[in-house]
Amino acid sequence: MRCLERKDLRAFLDKLASTASLVAPVREDGVVVFRPVPSGEQVELDYVNPVRSAKEFFFPQTEVMFRFLPSPMASITPVEPDRQIVLFGIRPCDLAALSLLDEVFLGGDYRDAYWGRRRELTTLVGLACERPDESSCFCTAFGITPGTAEGADVMLYPAGDWLGVEVLTPKGQALVDGALPGAGEAGEAGERVKQEYLNRAVPLGERVRPGELSKELDDRFDDPYWEEASRRCLGCGICTYLCPTCHCFLVTDVAKRDDGVRLRCWDSCQFKDFLLMAGGHNPRPTRKERTRQRFLHKLNYFVHRYGRYLCTGCGRCVQHCPVGLDMATVIADLRGVTQHA
Ligand code: SF4
Ligand code: SF4
Repeated sequence: MRCLERKDLRAFLDKLASTASLVAPVREDGVVVFRPVPSGEQVELDYVNPVRSAKEFFFPQTEVMFRFLPSPMASITPVEPDRQIVLFGIRPCDLAALSLLDEVFLGGDYRDAYWGRRRELTTLVGLACERPDESSCFCTAFGITPGTAEGADVMLYPAGDWLGVEVLTPKGQALVDGALPGAGEAGEAGERVKQEYLNRAVPLGERVRPGELSKELDDRFDDPYWEEASRRCLGCGICTYLCPTCHCFLVTDVAKRDDGVRLRCWDSCQFKDFLLMAGGHNPRPTRKERTRQRFLHKLNYFVHRYGRYLCTGCGRCVQHCPVGLDMATVIADLRGVTQHA
């Protein structure tokens, strides 16, 4: 553990920006978003969580996978990311979301080279939450806390005028050795700051309790709740685009006469043509099937496959779904229906 005085945080960020591309929260048009920044001066330090998660730096909304020449000889040129990135200010819920997506993109027989390369090139500096939003955050429902460091290379714990700096991986060690060379191993002092943070951290309570919901949902595929809930949905896809764990994509080719690119771009299970097939058949033709898919995927199917819920309680769908059809509400509804059944 090391220590950093809060007043020196921007200087620390300047050093990070001088050795790699620094991506950090900035305030833009009244909202906080992650953006590349040239120095620490632009970084927003007073925020709950950026409105868009950090997944787009590993899995961009649109990316060129490779270029191809269709004729006279077919040839393919892969497009690979090559920038070293330091991502600063990522919250525990979004760190956990990246770990979940690591399972999806890297955990099975097929390894996604695009996700993997960006993960290798990126050092994650987490920032424990000082003021979680108690009206929308519910990370504790999934075993995460405002100070959980899982997935970070370096974790910062703010307390008073100080930040406890915890190094968690060799990548994090290299970053701290380069950017905090004079700080040495503060040891006990760093531990004290972390402990002070943990003592003060605002508990989120247990507003949302999934409990054994995953198992209960095994038998609720045909529950009338899905029809009832889906009547509210507008099919806008905001929930899936802002969610740090949603990861559906579409692959498409754009070709001109002598040049072409293969693109991958985000898709959403809430769009009516998401599963539309060439012959016109649509396995999820109504909002009922699409709403059910979103919630069963996160609360049941993913748990069967990976042993964890595909939600980290970040609260973005709570804040931004225009009709209040969010994860916290649906969990509460489903638990309530179970309790009264
Ligand atoms: S659940 Fe809400 S945010 Fe998601 S598609 Fe429906 S209306 Fe849009
Ligand atoms: S489902 Fe909602 S609360 Fe859960 S991770 Fe996605 S956006 Fe966050």
